[in-house]
Amino acid sequence: MKPAPFAYAKARSVAHAIELLAHDDARLLAGGQSLIATLNMRLSHPALLVDLNGVAGLDRIASKNGHLELGALVRHAQAERSAEVARGAPLIALALPHIGHPAIRNRGTIGGSLAFADPAAELPACLVALAGELDISGANGQRTIRADDFFKGLFETALAPRDVLTAIRVPAATAETRVGFAEFARRHGDYAIVGLAACARAESKRLGDLRLAYFGVGATPVRARRAERALAEGDLGAAVGALAQDLDPPSDVHATGAVKTHLAGVLLRRVARQLGQPS
Ligand SMILES: Cc1cc2nc3c(=O)[nH]c(=O)nc-3n(C[C@H](O)[C@H](O)[C@H](O)COP(=O)(O)OP(=O)(O)OC[C@H]3O[C@@H](n4cnc5c(N)ncnc54)[C@H](O)[C@@H]3O)c2cc1C
Repeated sequence: MKPAPFAYAKARSVAHAIELLAHDDARLLAGGQSLIATLNMRLSHPALLVDLNGVAGLDRIASKNGHLELGALVRHAQAERSAEVARGAPLIALALPHIGHPAIRNRGTIGGSLAFADPAAELPACLVALAGELDISGANGQRTIRADDFFKGLFETALAPRDVLTAIRVPAATAETRVGFAEFARRHGDYAIVGLAACARAESKRLGDLRLAYFGVGATPVRARRAERALAEGDLGAAVGALAQDLDPPSDVHATGAVKTHLAGVLLRRVARQLGQPS
């Protein structure tokens, strides 16, 4: 199928993009890897596409004040090759190769993935596990939102219609940082049926600030808080057992909710081993 007719404008700056978004039914275009597919299937038919790709400065990766910052237009492939990401955000580095295929990662952007907020996507869960933040510019100025408050529902975020996500920030990894990532997909590159992103700080006998963020088990990334408490104390069996209370995944064509909960336990055992290793 072909998309319904739409107008196209190339934004010169973030401010220009916000101005263009004032048009009725305008939509931002970043890597186009999700948006163009929805246009072609006529699942969405915006009147105007506002292309962000020419906006300078949104594709930077920078270490600042103990944090790693990635501009919204950083491509998945660019982040995958970045030594700064490998060093400062090893969880994101582990997750990136699971996103689609090289052709998709060459165009798809960090900002597009987070703004699209697919419940089975890797990066939203990573950002929640890392207690990251998102910088947003909109008609009323700039604001920063915690990842915990950004994902609101199925493909729904805290972004308003005239908002542009400009960058994300995560605390830079230190020698004590421990991360783990695992997902179960039918084939490598498919969206995950269930996935888990985890981050913690190694302490003498336990894991501090442990965050387990599952994806593919609900409308948004889901923290497994009871499992976090048990695993932080080193009780993996109790952590796996707690998932039945932490998670309530819906059944779909790929798996029943019960199978997904079982898979969540399998992934937790894998990730627990990774958390025992220096990242
Ligand atoms: C075959 C295939 C397989 C894929 N597999 C995976 C996978 O396994 N895991 C995964 O996570 N993803 C997967 N993807 C999606 C891919 O990661 C996309 O790159 C991503 O979802 C969207 O990023 P984009 O830059 O292409 O955004 P676009 O498609 O350009 O935009 C997506 C949405 O986000 C909005 N948007 C984009 N940028 C911004 C911004 N800066 N501020 C505000 N709103 C913005 C757009 O308006 C649009 O609504 C797959 C895609 C395809 C085609």
